[in-house]
Amino acid sequence: MEDWLRLLGESVSSAEELERELPDVDGSAVAEVIAKFPMRINPYFLGVAKAAGPHLLRQIVPDPRELSDDCCVPDPLSEEAQSPVPNLTHRYPDRCLFLVAHQCATYCRFCTRKRKVGNADVVTPETIELGLGYIREHAEIRDVIVSGGDPLLLQDDVLEDVVARLRAIPHVEIIRIGTRVPCTLPQRVTSRLVRLLKRHQPIYVNLHFNHADELTEEAREACLRLADAGFPLGSQTVLLRGVNDSPEAIKDLFHGLLQVRVRPYYLYQADVTSGTNHFRTPVRKGLDIIKSLRGFTSGLAVPHFVIDTPGGGGKVPMTPRYVVRHSANEVVMRNYSGAIFKYPEVSAKDASAPVTVPVPAGVEQQNGNGDCPTGNGN
Ligand SMILES: *Cc1c(COP(=O)(O)O)cnc(C)c1O
Repeated sequence: MEDWLRLLGESVSSAEELERELPDVDGSAVAEVIAKFPMRINPYFLGVAKAAGPHLLRQIVPDPRELSDDCCVPDPLSEEAQSPVPNLTHRYPDRCLFLVAHQCATYCRFCTRKRKVGNADVVTPETIELGLGYIREHAEIRDVIVSGGDPLLLQDDVLEDVVARLRAIPHVEIIRIGTRVPCTLPQRVTSRLVRLLKRHQPIYVNLHFNHADELTEEAREACLRLADAGFPLGSQTVLLRGVNDSPEAIKDLFHGLLQVRVRPYYLYQADVTSGTNHFRTPVRKGLDIIKSLRGFTSGLAVPHFVIDTPGGGGKVPMTPRYVVRHSANEVVMRNYSGAIFKYPEVSAKDASAPVTVPVPAGVEQQNGNGDCPTGNGN
């Protein structure tokens, strides 16, 4: 049996097993929580979390507070309302989210899709057919985000089949795979899996790491296997109270990710998902973290900090206020260290002047791209 399947099979999924592993937990409280929201902790990630301490354990050990939210809802992003077929959310004009798996290698207690994960009835071969059919019929979809659950929990041939069938749709330009497996079960990123997926490039792989302590040797190797196969790698990190809610924790994580060629893509404000309220941080905290990064470290280590809006409005970037004033004459800005700078605005007269550049005889005058005569706008 493959190593990852064996590890998965040895996962902790009952209160008694968890008490054996972590004698401090209250087994009966855990039993109550997991009757509503299932638990799975595979032995690899349990080992990582135990070695690291409470900040990683919080992500995976059920908490009685999951049952006492009063502000949160099962589907805050209105994914179901925006699903023309089951498990496919079509919110934006040219791309969609396609859920192809119901399981994960470890269930995160803060999961935004807590309402569905772990339920085997959610994704079936029929829903996958319906999703593929919808994408085929909607020529405006040029980007498909394959997610779940975790798509890497599918068997090699099942996942490859889904990806191959997406790739066969002419208007699907890029495929993205959203997965936390390189973090929670890196043994699953086998050279065979990488070889099979590589046939269907371009595939962008968006990983999910929340703390530098998750970047073990195994996880780093999994990222490098994917990077070496040519998959552009991003990370979607969730800001979580008691896990990573400090500038130092986030900076260490992003620096660690860049070293294994993973570009921090999004930093998410936690969603208002039932059972996860205790993880939420004030929005101010995320803004302060971004402010602590921008300018002080590589721009590559500064993701977009976003709120996925309740009600299904999509992701909105939250940015610290750098613009002090923007008038017809100038933009007045504060830089990363707080100093004030000005940029002269283009006058109305200059903005409306026709764009002409000297061109050799016989070459047609180009429009629209001639603002900078050297052609070197950046
Ligand atoms: C996040 C998301 C996307 C992708 O958004 P990008 O900003 O392009 O990464 C697409 N559809 C849904 C429903 C999403 O939640």
